[in-house]
Amino acid sequence: MPPIKELYSYYKTLLDYYPEVQTPSGLNRLEICLAVLSGPAKIKTTRVRALAGFLASEAQVAATQMTVEFDAASGAIRLADPQLTFLADLEADELRRRLIAWRGIGPESADALLLHAFDAPVFAVNSRSWRLLRRHGFVGPEADYEEMRELFQAALPEDTDIYRRYYRRITLLGKDFCRSAKFLCSSCPLKPYMEYEPCD
Ligand code: SF4
Repeated sequence: MPPIKELYSYYKTLLDYYPEVQTPSGLNRLEICLAVLSGPAKIKTTRVRALAGFLASEAQVAATQMTVEFDAASGAIRLADPQLTFLADLEADELRRRLIAWRGIGPESADALLLHAFDAPVFAVNSRSWRLLRRHGFVGPEADYEEMRELFQAALPEDTDIYRRYYRRITLLGKDFCRSAKFLCSSCPLKPYMEYEPCD
């Protein structure tokens, strides 16, 4: 297995390769959540429905008297507080615990929501980061989500901006080079690091 700190070198290499990544600005917290919960239409609808249920439950716990509606046709969530201020007082660990405990919200979605919408210093692993770790020999095929998240967090300074920038660049890497069916190593910016064999 390569030294874990090499993951920080990957980050700097990707930052050089993708110096500018356009990100939407001016979104409220709910809009960021909806943007984060991407995926094929059916999966996205399931995820957004789960989020709507979670928000309705939390609004009730916070005694806001606010209704939360999910419109399956448009995939929209309607509520009077799109900044989700009723969640603002929760510590990130507690919010993470509640999100993951909610049926339909897995750790990957929970961490992406925490990182992008709630500014929490939590690295969010996605399928593309998993491919990267596996193909570069950091983890084997049995690696679980927490193991991968801890690897990234052990390699990086605890910094929300770094986690976000890295997440976005790994997503681009997975689209441009490290694809699920075919990987284009010869032109990939991380090719110089391909000195270890994949674990499987
Ligand atoms: S060098 Fe190959 S395996 Fe490594 S990230 Fe690039 S495409 Fe993926």
